Amino acid sequence: MNRARLLMLNAALGPLDYRVPDGMVVVPGSVVLAPLGPRQVIGVVWEEERLPSQRVPDARLRPLVEVLPVPPLRAELRRLIEWTADYYCASLASVARMVLSSGGALKGPATMTEYRLSGGMPERMTPQRERAMAALEGEQATIRELAGLSDVSEGVLRGLVNQGVLEPVAVDCDRPYPPASADFAEPVLNDAQQDVADRFVAAVEEHRFAPFLLDGVTGSGKTETYFEAIAAAIRAGRQTLVLLPEIALTEAFLRRFEDRFGAAPVLWHSSLKSTERRRGWRAIASGEAQVVVGARSALFLPYAQLGLIVVDEAHETSFKQDEGVRYNARDVAVMRARFERIPVILASATPALESLQMAAAGTYEKLDLESRYGGATLPAITTINLTEEPPERGRWLAPPLVEAMQARMARGEQSLLFLNRRGFAPLTLCRNCGHRFQCPNCSAWLVEHRLSHRLACHHCGHETTPPDACPECGEKDCLVACGPGVERIADEVAATLPEARVAVATSDTLNTPEKAAAFVAAAESGAIDVIVGTQLVTKGFHFPELTLVGVVDADLGLEGGDLRAAERTYQQVAQVAGRAGRGAKPGEVLIQTRHPDAPVIAALAAGDRDAFYEAETEARRYAGAPPFGRWAAIIVSSEDEAEAREAANRIGATRPNLLDVAILGPAPAPLSLLRGRYRYRLLINARRTAQVQDVIRDWLGALTFPSGVRVGVDIDPYSFV
Ligand code: ADP
Ligand code: ZN
Repeated sequence: MNRARLLMLNAALGPLDYRVPDGMVVVPGSVVLAPLGPRQVIGVVWEEERLPSQRVPDARLRPLVEVLPVPPLRAELRRLIEWTADYYCASLASVARMVLSSGGALKGPATMTEYRLSGGMPERMTPQRERAMAALEGEQATIRELAGLSDVSEGVLRGLVNQGVLEPVAVDCDRPYPPASADFAEPVLNDAQQDVADRFVAAVEEHRFAPFLLDGVTGSGKTETYFEAIAAAIRAGRQTLVLLPEIALTEAFLRRFEDRFGAAPVLWHSSLKSTERRRGWRAIASGEAQVVVGARSALFLPYAQLGLIVVDEAHETSFKQDEGVRYNARDVAVMRARFERIPVILASATPALESLQMAAAGTYEKLDLESRYGGATLPAITTINLTEEPPERGRWLAPPLVEAMQARMARGEQSLLFLNRRGFAPLTLCRNCGHRFQCPNCSAWLVEHRLSHRLACHHCGHETTPPDACPECGEKDCLVACGPGVERIADEVAATLPEARVAVATSDTLNTPEKAAAFVAAAESGAIDVIVGTQLVTKGFHFPELTLVGVVDADLGLEGGDLRAAERTYQQVAQVAGRAGRGAKPGEVLIQTRHPDAPVIAALAAGDRDAFYEAETEARRYAGAPPFGRWAAIIVSSEDEAEAREAANRIGATRPNLLDVAILGPAPAPLSLLRGRYRYRLLINARRTAQVQDVIRDWLGALTFPSGVRVGVDIDPYSFV
């Protein structure tokens, strides 16, 4: 009798056994359709001995329906799924769902109908039709996607189809991607780059596990060196995965890739259309996709023959997922490389302390690029002490910064002001009664966005229009904005330098690839004098005329009091400073701070990276913090405040008593209300050698909770809110 044990995509089900009907062939990794009650569900055939479950007698087994038309998940990927679930205390099902993340891809070859403008005109023009036709110039997509693009209803577009204005096009869902060529435009590397590239290329050719930490200052040409590793993988007929933080997936990077390899890479990120996801997924699984450039979720895709992983900007905290499976893509990338026996390159100008420690321990091979490419110099960094040279009342830019910007204007050079706060003001209150505008779903203030005339919650997306009168006391025209966001800084620049052309660069203003491309083009052509931006501008951009960077508030990141606050501030300021002076002209960085003597600020000003890392390392060692000790968090939430508190207290009351594990809390989370759920946290601090996951599994596994309570485990947390 032929049986199969399945890992189901629904964690509540547990492993299930099925009969394999005559004539059907399954192997471990096969993705199959199985009957479940009246429904059919997806499962993955797994090694029985690795997925323990009660053995159901043969006679009671139901037959599998079919094997889905995709390659079986390879053993290397199955081991990665197991490792990830085990390490992050997640269910196998939730990790497997990240692998099978395109429903359409599992359906096999298909064609679909897309629509595009035919050039014809409708019998009758309406404002909506006109809007749609203007918006859809050059686009081809499904009706639903076109409706999204043009902001008109699907009904309007169907009308245009009937009129022949939109014509159908049959598209092969899996049409091939244009091939990338390793030899398309080979660069001439300088000696330092060549040494690094040679190490990468050798490791790719040898097809062995080799973790590298590529530590190179901003503008040193790190990208160029790992492009050579990609070229080696292409020559060897193997796939490359390049992981980038979502915000660094810029036009600029893609253009650069195309210039080097003659074709665009396969893209993978959260806002792909479902048809693009399907096409990408199938090309990755078949091996046709040579190079995939993606956000963290690209890590779990079923590559047919992976040859290299690159994690660029590897220090970025956005590689850590804070919901669902709370994994760190940087760390899982190294594990994946290990299972696949391939090299992995972590590239950064400001590596995470954890990565530097791995290099110091000899686990990662560290390669350095110590100077900028082409003789460009690193910018000089100076602090402005805001207590000594304060801005004028109601303003945020101190006189020395304003003067420096004026000087740039006079020379036709560009300035960049960095403030990691979207919107106009982080807090709005009533001058009359002191009422603060708070999100109804979160314990957070609403942020005023003046450009879009909105009060918005940055945690849940809740939005309202700012009212004319205070909702508390009814007084009219009494709302005041407190504190600056980028929009307010832009207003201040416009007021102080009236002739300056100012651009705000945030995820609000550059929210489509087109807008981002237009911004880059404008900045490159010199049509912008001052860029005011959030974290979005700290990486990827290369504007030769940009010679001044002003950090509006370097103390902001230090206020949160989280474990990595100093490191994050260091990284953010060093990265944004790295935008200055990348061309022939030297750059200057001015940091506004109230604490010029804080170790992290002093290290930045002195350009003494080693001193900062050494001090930070000692502080972490002393605190038993990563990488010397381990942290884990338990997050309890419910829509019912009492229920959340009781569950958290019960977890607290049953805490294990262990020598090498300290357990703090439960306490209300700093964000005690998030998206309508009340939250409590426990924090676990353990010795490096402690088996934290086993401790947590035993502890929580012995408890049951009401169905409204969610208990999440965050191993190696990055967020403490
Ligand atoms: P990093 O990623 O280290 O900040 P980049 O790879 O972006 O640095 O390189 C900085 C700039 O120098 C880019 O404009 C890049 O095109 C250029 N560059 C780097 N190496 C070379 C090279 N070997 N030949 C030509 N241009 C290079
Ligand atoms: Zn909210």
